[in-house]
Amino acid sequence: MVIARISTNEGIRYAEVKGGRYYLIEGDCFDIKGVSDTPYEGEVKILAPVEPTKIIALGANYKKHAEELKLNVNPTPTIFLKPPTAVIADGDDIVMPRGAIRVDYEAELAIIIGKDCRFVSAEDYAGVILGYTCANDVTERAFQKIDGQWARAKGFDTFCPLGKYIVTDIDPFNLELKAIKNGEVVQQGNTSDMIHGIPRIIEFVSGIMTLKKGDVILTGTPEGIGEIKAGDTIEIEIEKIGSVANKVRNE
Ligand code: MG
Repeated sequence: MVIARISTNEGIRYAEVKGGRYYLIEGDCFDIKGVSDTPYEGEVKILAPVEPTKIIALGANYKKHAEELKLNVNPTPTIFLKPPTAVIADGDDIVMPRGAIRVDYEAELAIIIGKDCRFVSAEDYAGVILGYTCANDVTERAFQKIDGQWARAKGFDTFCPLGKYIVTDIDPFNLELKAIKNGEVVQQGNTSDMIHGIPRIIEFVSGIMTLKKGDVILTGTPEGIGEIKAGDTIEIEIEKIGSVANKVRNE
């Protein structure tokens, strides 16, 4: 199923997306009680697909990306947090913070957690995942190097484009992902090249903290990261999932 979170004349709703049209869902995406037989006819604005309590992100989870940034690859996953206030939807602007030196895109597959959970074993990973979406782990690269801790570099408002839709019932292990800047492919990879796979990530993260429904896990970026500047359009596209596209502007 392809699920959108949209703003309608009836308020914020979830909808099933079929043939480019929105069929309103009764309940929410975590507990679908029914789907309208007829498409919604009013004006729609696409919203970020979830409102997470936290965004957990993997660092250095693709070998060649770790090499390009000279990051250590640890036997355990390296994780960091992005604040929920960083989330924006497809079509919203990425805002270059005042004083930024170099801001980069990072194309990533995002996991959407479907139920509250803790201590999930790797083999049970699928039961706690609602679906997947596209993410851009926008990063102020200079601050990342200066600070050591990544909260500032990764945490600015608008630094987590998510969407456009949640796609359920897909196999996430062999998906092409790309970043497209101003219409040109600038980063390309495949989820099969992750160092720590999704089952291991779910086991590891849920062993540390309770995952709430709607929480998001960013699974890391492949090699080929690069800079964005005001005026650019950056789109993250993942096979079988779609894309999230955003313009960049100055604060
Ligand atoms: Mg990243």
